[in-house]
Amino acid sequence: MIKIISQKLYIRVAISIALVAIVVSLVSSMLSYYSGFKEKKNTNYLLVQQLAQTMEKTAAIAAYLNDRELSQEIINGLLSNDLVQGASLEGEVNPQGEMDLFIAKGSTNKKNEAVLIKLVHPFIEDTFIGVLAIYPDDNFIEQQAQSALIKEFILMLIQSIVIAFFVSLVVQRWLTQPIQNLTDSFAKINPSEPETLKMLTFKQGKRDEISRLTQGINALMHELHLTISNEQTLRKKTQELEAKFRLIFEQASAGICLLDDKNIITTFNPAFKHYFTVPGEEELPTLHFPELLSNVDELQSLLADIRSAKNPPQTTLDVECKVGYKTVWFHCLFVRLTDQRDTKRNPKQEQLVEVILHDVTERAEREQQTRFEADHDPLTGLLNRRAGENRLKKALRECIKHNEHLVLMMIDLDKFKPINDTYGHEAGDKVLIEIAHRFKTLFHEKNDMCIRLGGDEFIVAQQIKTYDKTATQQKANALLNELKYDINIAQNKTCAVGASIGIAIAPYDGNELQQLMHNGDKTLYHVKETGRGKVAFYDDIKN
Ligand code: GH3
Ligand code: MG
Repeated sequence: MIKIISQKLYIRVAISIALVAIVVSLVSSMLSYYSGFKEKKNTNYLLVQQLAQTMEKTAAIAAYLNDRELSQEIINGLLSNDLVQGASLEGEVNPQGEMDLFIAKGSTNKKNEAVLIKLVHPFIEDTFIGVLAIYPDDNFIEQQAQSALIKEFILMLIQSIVIAFFVSLVVQRWLTQPIQNLTDSFAKINPSEPETLKMLTFKQGKRDEISRLTQGINALMHELHLTISNEQTLRKKTQELEAKFRLIFEQASAGICLLDDKNIITTFNPAFKHYFTVPGEEELPTLHFPELLSNVDELQSLLADIRSAKNPPQTTLDVECKVGYKTVWFHCLFVRLTDQRDTKRNPKQEQLVEVILHDVTERAEREQQTRFEADHDPLTGLLNRRAGENRLKKALRECIKHNEHLVLMMIDLDKFKPINDTYGHEAGDKVLIEIAHRFKTLFHEKNDMCIRLGGDEFIVAQQIKTYDKTATQQKANALLNELKYDINIAQNKTCAVGASIGIAIAPYDGNELQQLMHNGDKTLYHVKETGRGKVAFYDDIKN
């Protein structure tokens, strides 16, 4: 209960004022008591002195006459005064050592505080005949002072209590109650529920400190209410968006991953993981993205280019990759990501790259097949005329650039038409297929080319660093020998076919393909005309 009371501001103010008032009253009463007591004592002393002076003459006569009766009356008269506690009248000591007169009454032993009047002879000046001593009543004076003190103290106490009461009323009315109202309104506020951030009530038109404080708080809460409501709406929207994006990310059919500036995969979606893990394995084989794919160096330089500010921030590339034993093709979109919000604060921020990839193995294989079909002869699988000529042109350019040689062997089968005529076109086809196979077996180096120009006409070419005519001759002879072996054309049916070869060497016999082929052709027909089944060099027949 005391605790509850002491929590009330106005009661605390009132109690404080009352306590201060009591202490002040007590101290001031004590001070006024001591100063009043002294004053009263002095006043009484003066009064006693005056009293003594009025009695001086009569006392002098009583002493002169040595009249005990008169003296007795004087002393009685003095004692009837409240201020007098005791009195004595003493005569002179006679020559016999006896006192002529001594009358005393009341307390007369405190000689120091007595008012002493020396009694002078009525007829002879300067002759003292006795002493009148009057003792003031100190107890009476003290009692008077004490009662005055108590009265004063009680008055001041009543005054203080009344002041404390009214001050507490005023404090309660003007200070505590408005603060209490404010506190009650505050207690209802819950920041997590913006609706509770309603205006605090206060009396309109008032301009005191509490009203202004309430207005200030209201303005702040209004702002707070707006901010919190906006933030809640925004957070809700962000959460919805985030959920949608997460759904897109997690359920996307495309593989999505995020690379840091060292090309390490920091985030990836389930589709991405599915692409790069073989069934039964939980983890990606590596988190270093380029190593997931076949062409590591090409990818690393591509990613570096994307990160450098000069290049377009996004690019696409079809990349081959081995997942387990399977070869997979991915169409990859690389996008440089920059956080626009963070660029100003941190200009040297990390440059992330987002990779979105689709499995395009089927399409890539189809394209490869289409490209192969476009470049190769469907019957023999050798390069066709168009693709062959392109390859030869490229090889010729390289040879001239690097000071190398191109050996061009123009080949035409001898008497092939009769095979068709004798065994049928199908058998002819089988012969062509087998011949092509033998070409490829003999000319299988990286820089060797086997081309079917059409019909039974072929080119076999070699890009070589140093030309050796004997070696070339041997190679051509070996080819002719290889062709001589029987070819199965049907069950238990074989045939053999020969060929004529005309050889032209670049750059000696031409540094342009057309010229080189023309010269090779010329040589071939020279062989045809001179008996077939042989090898000739343009160098030998040109003159
Ligand atoms: P030569 O010794 O003078 O070269 O005479 P040849 O019999 O070989 O006849 P030639 O080279 O002039 O003609 C080639 C023949 O090849 C003509 C054609 O009937 C045949 N031929 C062309 N293309 C094909 C083909 O795709 N399949 C088959 N089976 N025969 C073809
Ligand atoms: Mg022929």
